[in-house]
Amino acid sequence: MTEEWQMDIKGYGLIRVSKELLTKLCDFRQLAKQSPESGGVLIGKHLNSAGVLLIDQLTPPQKSDKQGRCEFYRSTEHNKLVNDIWKKSNKHSTYVGLWHSHPEPIPNYSLIDKQDWQNALIQSKFEGDKLFFVIVGQTHIRIWMGVKSTLRSEISIIGEYEIGK
Ligand SMILES: [Zn+2]
Repeated sequence: MTEEWQMDIKGYGLIRVSKELLTKLCDFRQLAKQSPESGGVLIGKHLNSAGVLLIDQLTPPQKSDKQGRCEFYRSTEHNKLVNDIWKKSNKHSTYVGLWHSHPEPIPNYSLIDKQDWQNALIQSKFEGDKLFFVIVGQTHIRIWMGVKSTLRSEISIIGEYEIGK
């Protein structure tokens, strides 16, 4: 059984990834030879207690996205979905990051991924100064935290989750 994934970040606090979201992320693993990259947006709630952030929703791949074995292009459709979820939740559920899959066991970000993340930190609107970036590998899920800065946004790995453990 999958438990909630928790990371205690020094100087920030507890980041929680819900059990349900972990299960959903695992479903997008590229286990078959022909399965394409998937991706979307991460949605979470900023909490007053029991952690600072609960990441508990995602937007799944959309028809307007471009999905290849080793590429994923995220369309603007995801922004609309996030906006709908935000409104319906009374502004509690908000955009907190991005996710996508990789056809490798333990995922590492590519140069394009890093550029995409840097752009998200600079160009997108979000609460606070941090965004979270998840890559779903075949055996592990990894998560990076990006901190927005006027000079160069800092991106560092904060967690690794072994699937099925
Ligand atoms: Zn990637």
